Formats: sequence, C-alpha cells, structure tokens
Amino acid sequence: MSQTSAKLIDGKVYAERLRARVAEEVAELHADHGLQPGLAVVLVGDDPASQIYVRSKGEQSRAAGMHSVTHLLPADTTQHELLRLVAELNVDPLIHGILVQLPLPKPLDEAAVLAAINPDKDVDGLHVVNAGRLANGQPALTPCTPLGCMILLRETVGELSGLRAVVVGRSVLVGRPIAQLLLQADCTVTIAHSRTRDLPALCREADILVAAVGRPRMIKGDWIKPGAAVIDVGINRVPFDDPVKAAAGRTKVVGDVDFKQVSQVAGWLTPAPGGVGPMTVAVLLQNTVSAARRQAGLSS
Ligand code: NAP
Repeated sequence: MSQTSAKLIDGKVYAERLRARVAEEVAELHADHGLQPGLAVVLVGDDPASQIYVRSKGEQSRAAGMHSVTHLLPADTTQHELLRLVAELNVDPLIHGILVQLPLPKPLDEAAVLAAINPDKDVDGLHVVNAGRLANGQPALTPCTPLGCMILLRETVGELSGLRAVVVGRSVLVGRPIAQLLLQADCTVTIAHSRTRDLPALCREADILVAAVGRPRMIKGDWIKPGAAVIDVGINRVPFDDPVKAAAGRTKVVGDVDFKQVSQVAGWLTPAPGGVGPMTVAVLLQNTVSAARRQAGLSS
C-alpha cells in the first residue's frame, strides 16, 4: 500500500468535540436562564436516506439536552398543510430552530416552504434572508455543511487570512456559502463551476481547495498544490472495485477527490466518508443554540 503524506482530518473527532461543547452550552443556558433550545425537524414522505438523517438529528439533539420534536408527515401532504405546520412552528416559543428535510416529494414547492420559515429559526441557513446576511458579512444562520468545513479548516490549518482558496461548485447549499465564509476569513476566493476553463490549473493555485461537485473522484493528484488543505464535500455512491461485490450490485461512498492520488500531495485532506459528513448534524445543533440565544436576547 502506498504511503499517505496528507494529514487526514477526522470529522468524527471534531464533531464529537463540537457536540460536547454544545451540550455544555445547553446545560449553561438552562441553569442560568431557564432556556432549553428546541429543534423541530419536519420530514415529508418515506425516503429511507432522509429517515436516517432525521432520526440522527432527533437523537443527537436530545443527547445534547435540547428539546427535540420530529414531525413525520405522509408523502401526500399538501403544500397548504406543510405551510400551516411551518407557520405554527414559527410562533411556537419552545421551538428555536426549524429544519424541513430536503428533498421534498413532488409536487411540493421547496422554495416556497423554505421562504415560509422564520429566518431567525432557519437553522439550515437556506432562507434567502440568511444567504443575504451572510453575503453582506452580517451575523447569519449559515448552512451546516459549509460551516462544518470552516470549523475543520480553522482547527487544522489555523490562520486562514491571505490564503488562496478555490471552491469547486456554486450550489446554494454548499459552494456559495462556503465561498462567503472563506471570504469572511480573509481568504482570496475563486468559485469554479461546470463552465470554468482549465480547472486543473486553477485548482493548482489553491492553498485551500474545497470540492463540492458531486462527481466521484474528479479532483486528481496533479491538480493539487503540494501541502494544500483539501476539503472533500462530495458524497457519491459508486460500485465496489471488487468485481464480486460490484456484480452483486453493492456500492460504496467516495468523495469528489481521488483520495489515493490527492493524499500523496495535499498537506491536509478530509476523507470521504468520515470527514465533512459527521460535522453537519453537530453544526445544526450549534446553529439551534445560536438561534435560541438570539431569540432570548442573549449574545451568541
Ligand atoms: P449540486 O447542487 O449538484 O452542485 C454541484 C456544483 O458542481 C454545481 O455548481 C456545478 O456547476 C459544479 N460542477 C458540476 N460538474 C462540474 C465539473 N465537471 N467541473 C466543475 N464544476 C462542476 O451539488 P451540491 O448540493 O453542492 O453537493 C455537492 C456534493 O456535496 C454532492 O456530492 C453532495 O452529495 C455532497 N454534499 C455533502 C454534504 C455533507 O454533509 N457532506 C452536504 C451537502 C452536499 P454548475 O453550477 O455550472 O452546474
């Protein structure tokens, strides 16, 4: 087996630490202010992957001492019924964070549902008001995966000011918010996408490279500046290399980064799975605590 030169960023360890800090803060808020941060998660339909995510969010928020409510709605829920629930949660004093699990089954209108969430309870950070606040450099509830990436970068690389950052991907969920966060950290940021010319050359300029593309192992070793920090956000299902397992239809998860190659060149690298992924729910808990503090008029 070839030797790995990059230091691997174990997201499970950092997520565990963050959850422990959140649990401490929840206990303090309760003891000092009688405040228990509350998270409501709404799932429409019976998508198995979404069910797993929603269960995990409920379990982790309860484990942190938070008030946790899960609304499981049937797949034939109407737009009106879903909006009515969001409206109820918006004014529920025990609920400080609302998360509607995406994707919503058709024909529900995701944009309209996200727009109906009170921006101050929008712990997924997907409301256009929060995107605007983030873009303006104002305090905002920020999407969980990008914020998780920033925590990993700060914990490993340390000072980010002045570094050259390239984000591959411009989605509302990942690419755009992480570019904004890197800009706030005083990086010089370029956002690349499917129309970017000579992507390998652009990536080679990056001290920090964030891959949020959704294409298995697209980023190759010779695209990487030696010593760069590489954050692989991608979650892609591919057949096993082992032909017997592949023939049985078994799949595994790989990132957007060619791990074997990139780990030989990068200074830091998040494995996928096990890097960015575990941070997402931990940051959701942190966002809920921040939302609760702001709603109670406490500084966050
Ligand atoms: P998305 O909405 O599909 O966006 C993908 C982006 O990649 C788009 O901006 C697209 O460019 C760009 N792109 C596609 N092909 C490209 C190419 N050949 N060269 C350069 N750019 C290209 O995906 P997403 O929601 O951002 O998710 C990205 C990945 O992260 C997925 O694998 C997803 O599963 C994963 N993810 C992980 C987590 C986690 O917790 N770890 C959370 C969210 C997402 P255009 O805009 O030009 O089309």
